[in-house]
Amino acid sequence: MTHVSAPATLAQLVARSRKLGADRSVCNWGGGNTSAKSLETDFRGRSARVLWVKGSGSDLASVTEASFTGLYMDDVMPLLERERMSDTDMVNYLAHCFYEPGRPRPSIETLLHGFLPFPHIDHTHADATNYFACAKDGEALARDCFGDTLIWIPYRRPGFGLAREVALALRAKPDARLVILAKHGLITWGDTDEACYASTLATIARARDYVESRIARADRPTFGGTRVSALQAEERHTIAAQVAPVLRGLVSEEKRQILRFEDGDDVLAFVSSQDAPRLATIGAACPDHLVHTKPWPLLVDWTPGQDSEALLASLREGVKAYVAKYRRYLEANEQQNLDPDAAAPVYRASDAVSDPHPRVILIPGVGMFTTGKDAAMADVSTQLYHRAIAVMRGAEACGGFISLSDAESYAVEYWPLEQYKLKMAPPEREFARHVVLVTGAAGGIGSATCRRVAQDGGHIVATDIDLAGAEQLAAYLNQHFGAGRAIAVKMDVTNEASVQAAFEQAALAFGGVDGIVSNAGLASSAPVTETSLAQWNKNWNVLATGYFLVAREGFRSLQAQGRGGNLVFVASKNALVAGKNAAAYSTAKAAEVHLARCLAEEGGQFGIRVNTVNPDAVLAGSRIWDSTWRQERASTYGVAPDQLEEVYRKRTTLGVNILPEDIAEAVAFFSSPTRSTKSTGNILNVDGGVAAAYPR
Ligand SMILES: [Zn+2]
Repeated sequence: MTHVSAPATLAQLVARSRKLGADRSVCNWGGGNTSAKSLETDFRGRSARVLWVKGSGSDLASVTEASFTGLYMDDVMPLLERERMSDTDMVNYLAHCFYEPGRPRPSIETLLHGFLPFPHIDHTHADATNYFACAKDGEALARDCFGDTLIWIPYRRPGFGLAREVALALRAKPDARLVILAKHGLITWGDTDEACYASTLATIARARDYVESRIARADRPTFGGTRVSALQAEERHTIAAQVAPVLRGLVSEEKRQILRFEDGDDVLAFVSSQDAPRLATIGAACPDHLVHTKPWPLLVDWTPGQDSEALLASLREGVKAYVAKYRRYLEANEQQNLDPDAAAPVYRASDAVSDPHPRVILIPGVGMFTTGKDAAMADVSTQLYHRAIAVMRGAEACGGFISLSDAESYAVEYWPLEQYKLKMAPPEREFARHVVLVTGAAGGIGSATCRRVAQDGGHIVATDIDLAGAEQLAAYLNQHFGAGRAIAVKMDVTNEASVQAAFEQAALAFGGVDGIVSNAGLASSAPVTETSLAQWNKNWNVLATGYFLVAREGFRSLQAQGRGGNLVFVASKNALVAGKNAAAYSTAKAAEVHLARCLAEEGGQFGIRVNTVNPDAVLAGSRIWDSTWRQERASTYGVAPDQLEEVYRKRTTLGVNILPEDIAEAVAFFSSPTRSTKSTGNILNVDGGVAAAYPR
């Protein structure tokens, strides 16, 4: 955007929107929009009435002035004289009304704001008013709660028609104070910014108090009480981690998904309840949940007390049945005209995304998994399902939860404008939808690898015996590449339980892993006569046993997932070439390289590739180049320790040192889901262009 004006009205509107968005029971993620109208001076120096309204693609909680679009009211208002208008015509028309160029596309709900005569308007999908909006007796109870100040609009898909209907209803009833849109949301307003905010909060509070007192008086417990008792936290996590990779494999049949596990109190109460089997089939609690949750969750048929094998069998059955049900829903609605106001019928685009797998998976007594193309999107599904549980609880006390019909759901889910947003998203990056676990992540090569993979869209499980170092790295990755993209886990590669626990954490955070980079290392150097047994064992523990333990757990996880995967071992030139005064290190590294070759043999049948990268003399940022090691190496070359870089620089033909980033590039090549899929059992030397045998 070249020119940003910041009128006082807009600044106030941003502040109000963020306050509303801060409470997710008021504004669900991405849902709702706000507006204000003000008198501005336009580029011609003329005074103009401008509608400031939240544009498409932002979330109220984090909006800035740039998230809003200004439209000339003089251009918007004549539309109210029309009787109908197609979505496409409306969007094209609004594109001509911009007060300032370069601002975001107006949302489909823009005219709800434009047509109403109020200076400040909030449109929210608040839980409390949706208790009424999504309930059988909702209209009658909402009238009882709000009296004559309420306008109730039966469900209709957002767009020109809904905006016009609301505007005409208000013309007929100018003293109304709120509008409830059935199965959708709330509209409130005010003459000033403060009055609007106060009205929104007061309306929501009143609905909440009204319904909560009904819930308190009800003789039936919430969700009919418990059907199964929830497991203890530790058992829940164990079983969830056990089944996560299998579930991830099942829902990734068409496109790989990132999973997120959640077992908050509301989730546990719902999934374990008497009513869950009935409620889970009814539909979404708000139209804008649909693209993130689909119309229904998958409620798995399993009872705590049965073993995890039974749960796995139910997950397989459940996903299969869900896919069949979803395909029937697609078929049943594919002839639907998605925009009755368009001149010619509008059907779902043939390339519309329609992965039939569930986005929300509920396990009685255990919790909920959600899926998404990345951790952030899986988190959005989680957040929206929390809202759905809250709305169902309230709506059940108002005569029973109701939702959109299948046809209505389909019309929203496959709405051409929603699909347009999906298509406008930038192409996915190389490591998108992939999870890579890195050992020794806090070190030079480890952290360079994590950065390299995260930069190209990957999710990172940063493990290290140095938890603080791994946490620092994960924080950096989350800050630079998107929240939720990395987790830090303490792992001692020589400890069986610690390795297992790290993979469990990866399963709970992301559903599983796709790549494992074994990089944890150490360095020790001594003539054989001075090598202690402890030193010998330590090298073998970390470099041979440690790589075995991580690989074994990695294989188990990848095989459970059933979608292939890869392992990359970071070895050393010492694995191939004798290293003077480093027998323990070099032989253990040789074992590591041979382990990789053996695993490449075993992995082929499961689509698991295992390759090795051999770095030579990486100095910068490397933790193994501590002072002792540096001294030893320096004495090998007969130079002072601080001249070591110089020696290595001279060795390379290009005159450059080997950096951790160079190793990371080689690791990324083998770890890549696209670039090296036909290679296994290989060794790639990264030696600066000089054969590793030098000097002899
Ligand atoms: Zn809405």
